[in-house]
Amino acid sequence: MTDTAIATGTDEPVADFAARARAWLAQNMPPIDPDDPPFMVRAEQQSWDRAKELQKKLYEGGFAGICFPREYGGLGLDLAYQKAFNAECRSYEMPLILNTPSFTICGATILDVGSEEQKRERISAAIRGDEILCQLLSEPSGGSDLAGVITRAEKVGDKWIINGAKTWSTSAFAADYGLMLARTDWTVPKHEGLTMFLVPLAAPGITMRRIKEVNGNEEFCEEFFDGLELGDDAVVGAVNDGWTVASRQLHHERRAVGGGSEFASGTGAENASEMPPDHVGLAIATGQDTDPRVQDLAGRAYARRIVKEQLIEHVSRSIADGSLPPNAGTLIRLFHAETTELEVDTALAIAGTAGVIDDGDGLLEIGVRYLSRQTGSLGGGSSEMARNVISERVLGFPREAAADRGVPFNQVKRNKS
Ligand SMILES: Cc1cc2nc3c(=O)[nH]c(=O)nc-3n(C[C@H](O)[C@H](O)[C@H](O)COP(=O)(O)OP(=O)(O)OC[C@H]3O[C@@H](n4cnc5c(N)ncnc54)[C@H](O)[C@@H]3O)c2cc1C
Repeated sequence: MTDTAIATGTDEPVADFAARARAWLAQNMPPIDPDDPPFMVRAEQQSWDRAKELQKKLYEGGFAGICFPREYGGLGLDLAYQKAFNAECRSYEMPLILNTPSFTICGATILDVGSEEQKRERISAAIRGDEILCQLLSEPSGGSDLAGVITRAEKVGDKWIINGAKTWSTSAFAADYGLMLARTDWTVPKHEGLTMFLVPLAAPGITMRRIKEVNGNEEFCEEFFDGLELGDDAVVGAVNDGWTVASRQLHHERRAVGGGSEFASGTGAENASEMPPDHVGLAIATGQDTDPRVQDLAGRAYARRIVKEQLIEHVSRSIADGSLPPNAGTLIRLFHAETTELEVDTALAIAGTAGVIDDGDGLLEIGVRYLSRQTGSLGGGSSEMARNVISERVLGFPREAAADRGVPFNQVKRNKS
């Protein structure tokens, strides 16, 4: 930890911390136009190298890991300090791509349930800008039924031997360690035979491939485990209690997606393509600003965005004061996904055929963005699963029927068996 980080403590008023951050940022971080941030492409290694470089600067300046405990390399401060820092750093280039999943989901989960060694080593390495963490949960056989994973971990002597496959791992190619859920006991019901492992991604026995998406991006990866060997020190939480760990991950993911994680540093879109489309500007640029149909479309999308912002505020506050259960974070996640789809659909409806033709006016970007409009409805669990969570765990409706409930996993019928 740097001297500056050691010197920082809860005795420092938030306003003083903010003033110190303001002065340091002006001296040390590259300034940007917050309405036109530099392009960070998650699929490109150079974006991650740049993010690590910026993270190291923050660490050396004593402004990294603001809400992580001091013993793991952070500052041990509360959300008010992180919010103050976020307000100050808006006009500077920040390593935003490190926030999710590395800090907000993986770091947060390790902090909750990891061993002392995992916390000291992995969290502090991430805060220093030396390492990146990712999630290895979904499998080729499906991601919605997370408790049904079939990647196998068997204890042979003092080693765990891993065989299986994972897919859709965001930015795994750039990561150093991944939280990987595997089945360690097939004789008990599905939630009871799982264990979470912290996997070093460069280890022998792992083959990683990039997945090419329909929009040309290659951000996601798939991993094949062929006799990967891990020690007991790779187990996160307890053996056969991996569902508890995975549940913490999902909890942190819901908070992160809704913008409610104290472990995210910096605000705003990672790049211009993530910012809400400017429907009014688009209507003017295409000469349709007096068209009542276009006005109606833009008005609907705008109203939806305002409602989303208020919903995030209301639900976050209600979860914090206990008037809504933590699972209510799924309301934010669902509304966010639906709003994103509406915003992108609206942009394409206004652009019309110009959105799918590359004639140099920049409107093709809208068509390309349309191709990935549904990612928000799948990442961190699909919108259908989000509705299940809301109905069963927020509204209290009966749980959906499940043929495998309470059945030992090795007796559950899978695929056509
Ligand atoms: C942007 C993005 C980032 C991601 N990042 C990661 C990552 O870092 N790590 C990782 O492990 N995975 C990641 N994923 C994968 C993601 O978690 C899965 O895509 C998701 O859980 C759905 O799994 P699936 O694609 O296998 O669909 P399936 O589980 O095969 O589902 C197919 C369809 O059936 C529906 N369905 C399934 N079960 C039910 C049910 N019980 N009730 C109603 N409908 C149901 C689903 O909603 C879906 O529409 C990411 C995905 C995206 C899009």
